[in-house]
Amino acid sequence: MSTTAPTREALALHGGTPVRKVLLPYGRQAITEEDIQAVAETLRSDWLTTGPKVNEFEEAFAAWVGARYAVTFSSGTAALHAAAFATGIGSGDEAITSPLTFAATANCALYQGGRPVFADINKDTLTIDPEQVSFLINSRTKALLPVDYAGHPADLDALLKIAERNGLTVIEDACHALGAEYRKQRVGSIAHMTIFSFHPVKHLTTGEGGMVTTNDSKLAGILRKFRNHGISSDAGDRQREGQWKYDMVLLGFNYRLPDIACALGLQQLSRLDANLTRRKEIANRYSSAFREIPGVIVPAVSPQLVPAWHLYPIRFELGQFTVGRAEIFRALRAENIGVNVHYIPVHLHPYYRDRFGYKGGEFPIAEAAYESLISLPMFHGMTDEDVSDVIGAVEKVTQYYAP
Ligand SMILES: *Cc1c(COP(=O)(O)O)cnc(C)c1O
Repeated sequence: MSTTAPTREALALHGGTPVRKVLLPYGRQAITEEDIQAVAETLRSDWLTTGPKVNEFEEAFAAWVGARYAVTFSSGTAALHAAAFATGIGSGDEAITSPLTFAATANCALYQGGRPVFADINKDTLTIDPEQVSFLINSRTKALLPVDYAGHPADLDALLKIAERNGLTVIEDACHALGAEYRKQRVGSIAHMTIFSFHPVKHLTTGEGGMVTTNDSKLAGILRKFRNHGISSDAGDRQREGQWKYDMVLLGFNYRLPDIACALGLQQLSRLDANLTRRKEIANRYSSAFREIPGVIVPAVSPQLVPAWHLYPIRFELGQFTVGRAEIFRALRAENIGVNVHYIPVHLHPYYRDRFGYKGGEFPIAEAAYESLISLPMFHGMTDEDVSDVIGAVEKVTQYYAP
């Protein structure tokens, strides 16, 4: 790109030729023949739901993240609900979380009759600010619910220290961060419980699915019962022991992940390392290109961290372009770049406004981040050409709207 007078190529938004012919989504799964084979074999086997693949997947996943226990769930949302239950969150109890997340993170406290309390975020990493967290702790606080935004781990050391001082449980929402490292340790073995999602846009998919990892055997036991109606044994145990009796010991749900899905998860896990390497390559190409564009802020990476790059969100500095974020977003979509925005801050959703009286302005850093964010396509199946298209489109649109 020349740095002389900017060339203003006609935007697709105004009838110009789009950078690509077909829309590139912001995220998508990659399914191989081996994945299909594994699912087909399970369909031909004796077990469709809770059978041998569940244990195999849980053991392989626990080993991969370096945690003692892994418990599968039917979704990341169900996994969050179970973690809130296992923490003992009840009526009137508070869980402190980030406003810049998917609503499910905060909702899990509501499922238990508790209340999500939001703490503003760090302006660089966009993860929850431990100092803001410590201001909010009181006798009703039960849990901290940090989010590893975009795949960048939250400030876990500081949060665990606060938790220890106040007798709290840290439930880390790592739905973006499978494979991320925090001080040379993989996410999944650090917080009291860590939550993962296997939705198709995430690093590893089972269609729908989720996981909680923990090193605490007592928590693992509660999680296993909670996903199976609160019953203290599973169908496999009963068949092996040839008995009909079972005990329901707590009020749980049917949140089980079937063997069919776990067979897919096991196959996907075997390619996770390659997937993470590819995401890192894409992030590096993006960051070196976008760092050169005035008014564009690339994602910050704290020292001693390895992000998992679920998302690649860039921010546009207000006043550095002749239009706002909404117009830049529309222009990139017209170029067939499937941009997205992560996230509308949770407290600004109508349900939260109505129930808790939020009006906007309560969390200025999260709200300002939201106003300026655009997530660019980021998934391991992207080709080098796809990456070039995204870079070309961002350059084209930002040059067009440069002052
Ligand atoms: C995807 C996601 C969830 C929910 O996961 P599901 O599997 O879709 O229920 C929760 N929190 C965050 C941050 C997510 O990205």
